Amino acid sequence: MPSETKIAQSYVEKPKTLADLRAGISRGSVKAADLAASYYDRIDQANPRLNVYLSLTQERAMEQATRVDTAAAKGDPLGPLAGIPVGIKDVLVMQGAPTTAGSKILKGYRPPYDATAVRKLDAAGAVLLGKINCDEFAMGSSNENSAYGPVRNPVDTERVPGGSSGGSAAAVAANMAVATLGSDTGGSIRQPASFCGVVGVLPTYGRVSRYGLIAFASSLDRVGPFAANVRDAATMLGVIAGHDPKDATSSPAPVPDYATESDKPAEGLRIGVPAEYFGEGLDPEVRACIEGGIQALETAGCTVKPVSLPHTRYAIPTYYLVATAEASANLARFDGVRYGYRSPASDTLSAMYSHSRDEGFGAEVKRRILLGTYALSAGYYDAYYLKAQQVRRLLAEEFLRAFAKVDAIVTPTAPTPAFKLGEKSGDPLAMYLADIYTVTASLAGICGVTVPCGVTKAGLPVGMQVLAAHLNESTAFRVARAVEAAQG
Ligand code: GLN
Repeated sequence: MPSETKIAQSYVEKPKTLADLRAGISRGSVKAADLAASYYDRIDQANPRLNVYLSLTQERAMEQATRVDTAAAKGDPLGPLAGIPVGIKDVLVMQGAPTTAGSKILKGYRPPYDATAVRKLDAAGAVLLGKINCDEFAMGSSNENSAYGPVRNPVDTERVPGGSSGGSAAAVAANMAVATLGSDTGGSIRQPASFCGVVGVLPTYGRVSRYGLIAFASSLDRVGPFAANVRDAATMLGVIAGHDPKDATSSPAPVPDYATESDKPAEGLRIGVPAEYFGEGLDPEVRACIEGGIQALETAGCTVKPVSLPHTRYAIPTYYLVATAEASANLARFDGVRYGYRSPASDTLSAMYSHSRDEGFGAEVKRRILLGTYALSAGYYDAYYLKAQQVRRLLAEEFLRAFAKVDAIVTPTAPTPAFKLGEKSGDPLAMYLADIYTVTASLAGICGVTVPCGVTKAGLPVGMQVLAAHLNESTAFRVARAVEAAQG
């Protein structure tokens, strides 16, 4: 049992809350420039061991901090994130900053523009500290697929932080940023949040613009925040959410004040518990933590009832067909011509394409391109890709039926706590299977929040996944707040 071994070395450090820091900036008791400098000190100290940041954007950060301090001194209005140090997963582009998506193929690429989510953080006064490590092109569940080395889990540095946004979760857990952005295609925000003991948000598909997010699987990709507590995560989502003319799939629905919504008590909400998420393969300690969280919800005045999601058993093959098919199409653009790495020694154009891709992509990315190309090929399209799309529809309908009866559904986020570095990296199938509880919401397009819900005997965090219907993030936040409050 991996979770029974002792924790080797911990880098966990509880940050001040975003809300407190922001209030300090307004009062003048916190200076944005000092705060940014203190976060860079912490990064200097912890990054050599944890490998969270791939690059720092100090110049831009200090300029923003100075702007905030000047505005605060003059009593000018300040944005909701004024002076708050934030880190960005390296799959989101930031003007002029190295952006690699964790891949060698993008080494040296400096995008000429900001992703919409990054631009919105900037406009809200956030201080953007730098770009954060992740699995290559967001493909993975452990951060071991980064071309720049794995991130270590701050709770126990012998363990993975989860993936693919492992660095974004680790940054918050180790207080190397007050909040961060990640991306979630099949669990990449929720699972690392669970492994590192922080809050992670999967917004509804289309709630946050994907403009400037380096695409993995376009019908599944979402941008979302990490923070140390639910309210701060809600504040972050409120800033980055909203319609964007540059992303045709972004929702025109108005953006609620998520932070205030999250203050509403969970009392009276109906909570669904799907038996399919508590079966074979679930670590008993994780189960006990989640059952404790469910009890806490009952104590908080929620009604708990069973719901049925029988298509859950098809979710892994469905996800790994849709995601790889879309990835094979999206990654065709990395050809050695337009961005980043070009193989030096090729004498024909086609040799240059294939050598650049062969040398630039890592093993997992190649595996997915092969799988996806196969699933889309003429003779197999109907049997694989089309079938997967049909199952996806059934899964989505099943969730809609469940949400007619309950306001939120709670499950474990992952079947186990954080595993050891190297423990699963030789077995891609075992790694894929561990995504069982997160890929369903990805396929259905619904939203969710992962919130810390206890620790194992060895002190490893366990996260509860709270799912809600499309555009119903407010309800997920309320439920997560109640679980969080019960942790004390
Ligand atoms: N672990 C899943 C995968 O490897 C999810 C990744 C993600 O959400 N980006 O595909």
